Amino acid sequence: MYTFEDNKLLIAHLLNLPFQEIDTITTIDSSSISCVLKNTHSACPFCHSTHVYSKGFYKKSFTIPYQHSNIKNIILNIKRFKCQECLHSFSNSTGLPPRNFITSYPTIEAIMTSLKKENQTFKSIADNFHVSETTVKRYFDKYYHPPKFQFPSVLCLDEIYVPSLTIRSNYLTVMYDFENKKLIDVLPSRTKEDLHRFLTFLC
Ligand SMILES: [Zn+2]
Repeated sequence: MYTFEDNKLLIAHLLNLPFQEIDTITTIDSSSISCVLKNTHSACPFCHSTHVYSKGFYKKSFTIPYQHSNIKNIILNIKRFKCQECLHSFSNSTGLPPRNFITSYPTIEAIMTSLKKENQTFKSIADNFHVSETTVKRYFDKYYHPPKFQFPSVLCLDEIYVPSLTIRSNYLTVMYDFENKKLIDVLPSRTKEDLHRFLTFLC
């Protein structure tokens, strides 16, 4: 059974919030908790006026890594304010998840760490974290940045005949870094177009 302090620590850690910014925590059901953040704004971030008034709360739901606890959702009640001087609205919440995301940074980090494991698939990770497979693929495309390739001093090229190959032709082109003795890439044909595309990508 999780205590109030356990949940407070969990929320502070998972949502990257200072411990003291969490006011109250309410259990909704076995997998969801609701949390109210304290008022941390004393001035308008646009004009720095202190003449601000409360416009109540809005709710925002965040998914959290399944492995950490039985709680899968945190619903944050975030206070909204309006400035009496410049009339801008603003809220307490900043930087918890990426903009327009409902998944917190620690969850995305945990998903990306799982993607490094050889025995995991997009589907298995999606099941573990209770998100869709499309979501996992979207994070992979957005956050995985392969190291930029350094053009080798000596590039070896060879074409290999594979009788059983049915991708485009019966040939593959192998690119090899002679000095570092490393395979660079295997192109799916031996056409000039594929070679041109590969070399353009390197530039
Ligand atoms: Zn203002």
